[in-house]
Formats: sequence, C-alpha cells, structure tokens
Amino acid sequence: MNENHSNQLVRLTAAQLAAKLAAREVTAVEVVQAHLDRIAAVDGGDRGVHAFLHVNTEEALAVAAEVDAIRAAGGAAADELHELAGVPIAVKDLIVTVGQPTTAGSKILEGWYSPYDATVVEKLRAAKMPILGKTNLDEFAMGSSTEHSAFGPTRNPWDPDRIPGGSGGGSAAAVAAFEAPLALGTDTGGSIRQPGAVTGTVGVKPTYGGVSRYGAIAMASSLDQIGPVSRTVLDSALLHQVIGGHDPRDSTSLPDPLADLVAAARLGNVDGMKIGIIKELHGEGYQAGVEHRFNESLELLKQAGAEIVEVSCPNFKYALGAYYLIMPSEASSNLAKFDGVRYGLRVLPEEPPMTIERVMGATRAAGFGDEVKRRVILGTYALSAGYYDAYYGSAQKVRTLIQRDFDAAFAKADVLISPTAPTTAFKLGEKLDDPLAMYLNDVATIPANMAGVPGLSLPGGLADEDGLPVGIQLLAPAREDARLYRVGAVLESLLEEKWGGPLLDKAPELPAPELPAPSLAETVTSHGGSH
Ligand code: GLN
Repeated sequence: MNENHSNQLVRLTAAQLAAKLAAREVTAVEVVQAHLDRIAAVDGGDRGVHAFLHVNTEEALAVAAEVDAIRAAGGAAADELHELAGVPIAVKDLIVTVGQPTTAGSKILEGWYSPYDATVVEKLRAAKMPILGKTNLDEFAMGSSTEHSAFGPTRNPWDPDRIPGGSGGGSAAAVAAFEAPLALGTDTGGSIRQPGAVTGTVGVKPTYGGVSRYGAIAMASSLDQIGPVSRTVLDSALLHQVIGGHDPRDSTSLPDPLADLVAAARLGNVDGMKIGIIKELHGEGYQAGVEHRFNESLELLKQAGAEIVEVSCPNFKYALGAYYLIMPSEASSNLAKFDGVRYGLRVLPEEPPMTIERVMGATRAAGFGDEVKRRVILGTYALSAGYYDAYYGSAQKVRTLIQRDFDAAFAKADVLISPTAPTTAFKLGEKLDDPLAMYLNDVATIPANMAGVPGLSLPGGLADEDGLPVGIQLLAPAREDARLYRVGAVLESLLEEKWGGPLLDKAPELPAPELPAPSLAETVTSHGGSH
C-alpha cells in the first residue's frame, strides 16, 4: 500500500471506512495497518502526540485478517458481520482488556494484566473491531490535562505545547491526530467531553447506566460513565450503539433497550425543538472566543428551525464544590484496593518490620502520584466520622438540587446547550501547580454527571484569538441520548458548511518524530546492504 493511500485511509470516518470495507474496496488489514503506520509516524519522539501507552499491533492485525477472511468467503458469516467489523478503535487505559496491560495511568498498576475483559471490550470483540491499543490518561482519570499520567503527558495535535484535555486526553488526541477513527473514554466530571472540546473532536457521556461500567476501573462509581470518542456525531452514535445496553454484571445498568441512536444521528432535525441556553453556563469566566462561537451555534440552530429559550439552573454554581467532595470520597474508597497485595506494584519498606500496613504505605507512597494522594486524603477526611454530615452529606443534598434544576430546565426545553469548557486548550504546565484552576475546567461538564443525564460535545469552530477548537455541549434528559445525536448532527452539518468542511482539516500537519540521526554504519547498510 503506498503512503498516499494510507494517509487517505486514516482521514476517513468510521462510517466511511465501514462502507468501504463492506464494498470490499479496501481490506481491514490495510485499514488497521494504515492506522498503525500513522501511530508510528506521529505518536513517538520527544514532541510526538503520545496518545498511546500500549500499541496492540499483532492482535489488531489478526482480528482484521479474520474479518477479511470472513468477507472473502462470503455467505451467511459474511452477512452477519457487524457493520463496524474491521473498523479499528483505541481504548482508554482505564478500561480492562485481556492480553494488553491496563495501567490506569498509574505506576501502581504498571505491568498488571487483567484476567477479564470489560463488557464494552467484549462488545468490541463481538463486533470484530480491531483494538489498536490503550490510550493515555491522567492517573486514575483524575485531571483535566493528561499531565497527571505517570507515563508523561499527551500533546494536543493542534499545538504540541498545549494540553489535549483530560482525563481522556489520549483517546481524544488519538482521534484528532488520525491515529484511530474511534476511541473509548470515561467521563466522571467531563473526561470525555472536555478533551473532545479542546481537540476538535466529538465526545459523548451517555446517560448514567446506559453503558456498562463493568471493567472500567472505578474512580467515583456514582458518576463514572464509559462513552464514545470520534470525529463525527454519526460515528459516536455508531459506537454508542455497539457498547450500550443492559448488562447484568453492572448493578446500576439500566434495564431499557437501547434506542436507535444511529437513526437519530442520520435523521438530524431540530424542527420545532426547544433548545435551552443555561444562563449560568456561559458569559462571565468564559473566554471571549468560546462565547463568540457559542453564540454563533445558537444562531445556526435558530435558522435551522429550533426555538431558543433561556433556562436558569441556580444550583449549578455549587456543582463543582459538591463534586470535589463526592468524587474524592468515592475515589478514596475505590482506591483502597490498591494495597500492594492484590494488584501490580509492591514496594517493601526500607527497614523492618514488614507489616501489612507498612508494605501498603510504602507501595502507595511510591505508586500513587500527587493528585491521587491529594484526592484520597480529601475523600477520607470528608467521609470521616464527625465530618460526614457537614461535607459528604451536604454535597449529596446539593446533588439533589442540581437534579431539580435539570428537571425544571427540561420542562422548558427538549435539549440544553452550553460551551463544553470555559477556555480552549491551555499550555502544558500552565495549571499543573494550581489544582483549583485545573478543576475549573469542568464547571460546565460536571452538572451532567451529578444528575446522570447524557451530554455530547462537538467542535464549534476555532476561537478568534488563538485559532484553537471550541467545544459546544448538548445535554438531554436521562435516557434521551438519541436527542443529542439528532440535534448534534444538525449543528455539525451547519458548522461544517460554515467552516468549509470538517474542522480537523484545518489542524496543522503533525511533525514527524525526531528520531536519532542514523549512524554512518547504519546508513551504509541500509543503502548498500544485501536486503
Ligand atoms: N477533570 C475531572 C476531574 O479531575 C473529571 C475527571 C473525569 O471525568 N474522569 O475529576
């Protein structure tokens, strides 16, 4: 396959790849190889994207070869292939996979292999979607920049000196850099949507319980949700349709059958729909260019036939504060299992006695990074006797108020809209020493997790002042994920018209990684050798 053909393949969407595979215009092995080549070309080196922590070359090619063999043989087996069979995908390294390491971005799990697959991974395997590898993240999904990964940050494909968002910066960057057409993320407070916003990709947090959490390493169980990452709204719907639905192994899984999300994305229509601007989630504190693009999206939706109304959610201003009590509280108990006995790393104290407490202490001191320690301490404190009512108890009450705000807002509007994040991608290092400034990135995404409602972020254009992508967030009532795809598809096509094509076409070409210069001996062999 020539380089040009390979470059063209990686630029296709999942839907386009699926169509080409079905028409047998291209083989799954070619598609997977093109993405592996792209990863090799842009992911490594000092200033490479570094979206991947592990590349699953052999298995991905083997699954692709299997799909090709089935298609070539024809008959019933070929007819039964899933429409995304052979379309590759990257998986956030918080989701467990047999045969590949799972690190959660932490030293404490380095070298650990899960004995079982997450339900979503089983579903990818059943659909015969080759898994390209595992993507980088903030340690245990705690962060908004992927700088808290124990394995070094991911770089934003729009500008290597900027953050790709977090915690799922690896999945978003992989898709934005054309290393994968699709990826899986997890969203506890915005970790799918905010990376989507700052990389110019689409990210969806499904309704809580809509996608099984079985096999997603738990951060805050009442907020966590797995969801799709892609370059188009339709592609997210296609992936959501694969991973969604009831799972008896997840006690919070919804029993309802999954709606036809793909049909909603293909329908794309806002006629007569009411779209509510959340008064508290734009304006002051939002970058001028973000606000500008946001207002433009409202104008486009109005022209397409939607009625724009304003809604007020007065309790959203407490969402961030309440989140930073609930999330660390749940995380502190979820992370108690990393004790130096059951998983991964074990560090022995320098001196005896070698008691279990001391081994645990030494392992956690060495294995957890600063942000994880900060949150475990915060959560343990908030849950401690005497403080429980003042902190955790109050935060749970705020959560109820946020749910009521959503109920009132959805009584007035079918879908709500806001910017996804207050700013475009900031510089690597800029907020690393200021946890509160980092936390503020999630002001607009956290309310959805607190209430369990679904949210979608899509690229709304580039900010005037810095030329970086701006995210637009749509929110729908619980179980109404289909509305997000229906409205999202309309807004996406209007924006593409306005910007003259997909936004990612405007991203700068990625530099090839700076590999060490070949030595004279190697130069001689490769030019004059016998092979
Ligand atoms: N950035 C948020 C946090 O640090 C959200 C993380 C997430 O969604 N996993 O908690």
